[in-house]
Amino acid sequence: MVKYLFELQEIEMNILKKERELEGIDKAEEIKKYIMEDKKVRKHIEKIKCLKKKYKTESKLLEDHIKDIEKTKEEMKKKLYGGEIKDSKGLELLMEKEKRLETSIDTYTERMVEKIESQEKVEMELEKYVKKAKDMGARINELLKERKSKKEIVEENLHNLEREREDIKRIIPKGNLELYYTIKKKKVKPMAYAHNQICSGCHMDLPIEIMEKINKGNMKLCPNCRRIVVILGQ
Ligand SMILES: [Zn+2]
Repeated sequence: MVKYLFELQEIEMNILKKERELEGIDKAEEIKKYIMEDKKVRKHIEKIKCLKKKYKTESKLLEDHIKDIEKTKEEMKKKLYGGEIKDSKGLELLMEKEKRLETSIDTYTERMVEKIESQEKVEMELEKYVKKAKDMGARINELLKERKSKKEIVEENLHNLEREREDIKRIIPKGNLELYYTIKKKKVKPMAYAHNQICSGCHMDLPIEIMEKINKGNMKLCPNCRRIVVILGQ
């Protein structure tokens, strides 16, 4: 009879283990970590996209501006070489103005090139992050799938253990079961065995009179830890 109580204890310890395992699976710290990281990556992608748009608009503005200046310059050239202006002072002024326009074209072109370069840089970064997001999405899916199958296995184990527990409880006399569960309220493991007159639950010596009783196959409580103490193999 005693061996069934030990078996029951064993099954209940395994149930506890599986329940903790399930809790761990539900917590899914690793998946949570990935999902948080994924959110960050996506946020960063949005930021890069905005930046890309900004550089594009700015370089377009500069391009338009350069075109305008070039147009003005062309008109000036026509005037300058068209023979409209005869006096040297006027010509000199126009030439000076043309030079100024050329300088601004250079300056704006330089700025436009800078914007284009920045745009290319963010495009490269965008590509990197888009790949990262894709990999991360795949990893999350993989983890979710893994978690699902892991959970199914543990749940099935748990279900089997619970069935085993019910089966064994049916064999154990009611009084013994009640005693077992009363002790279980205070101790995770209500069962202990005597080895060399020592209780395996608390490692204290067992009194002779208790040893005599349990040697005869009686179930007795350890006077120290109040566990059911028995001789193994009975
Ligand atoms: Zn004890």
